[in-house]
Amino acid sequence: MAGIIHEGPVQGQVAIVTGAGQGIGRAIALRLASDGMDIVIADVKQEPAEALAAELRASGRRALAMVSDVSKAAAREQLIATTLAEFGRLDVLVNNAGIQRASAPLEVTEEHWNLMMSVNAKAIYFLCQSAMSHFMAQRSGRIVNIASMAGKAASTIYHPVYNVSKAAVIAMTKTFAHIGASSGVRVNAVCPGVIETPMQDLVDSEFGRLMGREPTQVRAERTSRIPIGRPGDPEDVASVVSFLAGPDSGYMTGQALNVTGGMLMY
Ligand code: NAD
Repeated sequence: MAGIIHEGPVQGQVAIVTGAGQGIGRAIALRLASDGMDIVIADVKQEPAEALAAELRASGRRALAMVSDVSKAAAREQLIATTLAEFGRLDVLVNNAGIQRASAPLEVTEEHWNLMMSVNAKAIYFLCQSAMSHFMAQRSGRIVNIASMAGKAASTIYHPVYNVSKAAVIAMTKTFAHIGASSGVRVNAVCPGVIETPMQDLVDSEFGRLMGREPTQVRAERTSRIPIGRPGDPEDVASVVSFLAGPDSGYMTGQALNVTGGMLMY
């Protein structure tokens, strides 16, 4: 029944998913496509983006892969403009692309700060800004920003700027939600916990390097703190994005929903 409710209203709508070449973004693109949406995949990596687009087209959806570094203004403009030119509409923006770098807090360099903030915070702010103009003019649209539990809890000292960048995502989600609410535009965020993706493998090895431990020990220790008892799958996040991108969340905006297996309860 829930599937039928999602299928109808979003059928034929168009979603941009950034960072959809792998991990959580790929699962989101597949889920929104199965909900009935056509998908624009934006990723810095060409091959996985094109492979996913081919997979979606084979399943009967329209799909476009764009090699796009969302930290660059020209790429962001091109992403929105090309979507509108190719598909004639835009209904959903999922800001998922993000990067992870570890550093001891007292060793953070300006270069590290600028890189993290540029991809994880600035790119999302300005993509929201571009999409909002379009959504407010058409008086409909949904934005889902992928933040992190790190943005609420500063969950570890080993990625201090990542924590800052994800707190910024939660703050801008609320600001854009306020702006869009009376125009029929909803803006929400998702805060994943420990999700099994290539990024999480990087976290294990980088934290292990800083802590003097094996990556497997790092993963085991983090998993032991998850009340549900397992790391999340990308699909666990994708199903919540599907809800926020669809009509069943129609009375929700400005929220930051945890998908953490109970690690974070506020
Ligand atoms: P991932 O590293 O596995 O995949 C990220 C994708 O984004 C890759 O395909 C990469 O090529 C792309 N990308 C990176 N920089 C880009 C850029 N400048 N422009 C366009 N694409 C770019 O990461 P993931 O684990 O799937 O994470 C996805 C999102 O979820 C990120 O925002 C991440 O911070 C967030 N998140 C992940 C976890 C987790 O446990 N994996 C937890 C909390 C939040």
